[in-house]
Amino acid sequence: MISNATQILEQTVTVFSKSYLPINQINIKRAIILLVTEKAEPLDLGNGSQPIAVHSPTMVFLVPQQIRLTINHKEKVWRVPTVNRREVLRRDRQTCQYCGSIKHLTLDHLIPTSKGGKHAWDNIVTACEQCNNRKGARTPQQAGMVLRLQPKAPVHPIVAFAEQFWREHKVQIEGMAN
Ligand SMILES: [Zn+2]
Repeated sequence: MISNATQILEQTVTVFSKSYLPINQINIKRAIILLVTEKAEPLDLGNGSQPIAVHSPTMVFLVPQQIRLTINHKEKVWRVPTVNRREVLRRDRQTCQYCGSIKHLTLDHLIPTSKGGKHAWDNIVTACEQCNNRKGARTPQQAGMVLRLQPKAPVHPIVAFAEQFWREHKVQIEGMAN
């Protein structure tokens, strides 16, 4: 039970598009504004999520944990970012993809460029200096090194959000189907 006003205002609400796609998470104040201006409506996923009670001096506002926009959501133009150090480190959450280290990070080409490997999203990962040196001019298989994740190009932020949302809610929803 959350009673502290600051804690309540830190709660987030998941926003669904008009066509029922989870698109992002917003703070409760923004959610209330969308609801009172009728730009959004409560969305019941049937997962038993309880509304968050927000008290004002004179009333209690029940904010659902999911809302659905009643207006069209304008998507920002998004392109797959260019392969560069900043973007690769961001994709790999600033973590060596071999050992998990967060120090002395470099970029590693899975198939070395000297062997014809491309400077592309699926051939480049973040690696710490130590792992990069150990791997040398070999592929991870040749070096007997295992990647934590197979690298791929970043997906549209909305797609990434939706994927994460359904991963988190999958168990809950599957549980309800039984
Ligand atoms: Zn490493």
